[in-house]
Amino acid sequence: MKIGIISDIHSNMEALLAVLDDMGPVDKVIFLGDVVGYGADPEFCIKIVREIADIMVCGNHDFACCGLTSIRYFNEFAKRAVIWTSKKLSKKDLNFLANLPLKAKYEDMLFVHSTPFEPQNWHYIFTPKDAVTSFWYFEEKICFVGHSHVPMNFSIDSSGMVHIFRDDEISFEDDKRYIVNVGSVGQPRDGDPKAAYGILDLEKKSFKLKRVEYDVEKAKEKIISVGLPPYLGERLLYGR
Ligand code: ZN
Repeated sequence: MKIGIISDIHSNMEALLAVLDDMGPVDKVIFLGDVVGYGADPEFCIKIVREIADIMVCGNHDFACCGLTSIRYFNEFAKRAVIWTSKKLSKKDLNFLANLPLKAKYEDMLFVHSTPFEPQNWHYIFTPKDAVTSFWYFEEKICFVGHSHVPMNFSIDSSGMVHIFRDDEISFEDDKRYIVNVGSVGQPRDGDPKAAYGILDLEKKSFKLKRVEYDVEKAKEKIISVGLPPYLGERLLYGR
């Protein structure tokens, strides 16, 4: 069984369509949250994700748009995008976002936007130390996350040693557990502007991170033309 895992679409229609085209047919699609925020096409992205995703969890921007997460700690650009998005969305779409779960499980895997520990508080996992706390708070073999928009992986062995690695391909070993960040479809921040997503192969026990070119210029122009901060468009060009 092949599973496409996508996260942090952030209303970027061009990136989402390019990723789905590249992914081709899969047995399941799992979405790790933040369908909206930052970009110009929130309604379209919600519509597509509802059609294609078999499992979905919420992100901080999704909850912020429906008032379930405070934007007090959001930066100025993110705040403006949340306010713009929440005005643009229908009651039905806001209701859909408000009802997304914080966590989901499938087989021996956990799916969460931020961290297994206090997922509603939107912590980040950047270091092995951050990962240690997270490993304490789930029992499954693999936890897939998004949120930081930076693809990276962590493993923990039976002695409790946590190891960080950035390989694009992972062969899951029987005696280890993993945290895998699949990066961001719509606003990569690892210096590579290409959209990121992952393919999990359950039979081969492997994961592959994929990068896809898309029309970044078009996504940028749309952000500017709808009146969102130009910086939100420009950062797409640099993957920052
Ligand atoms: Zn995000």
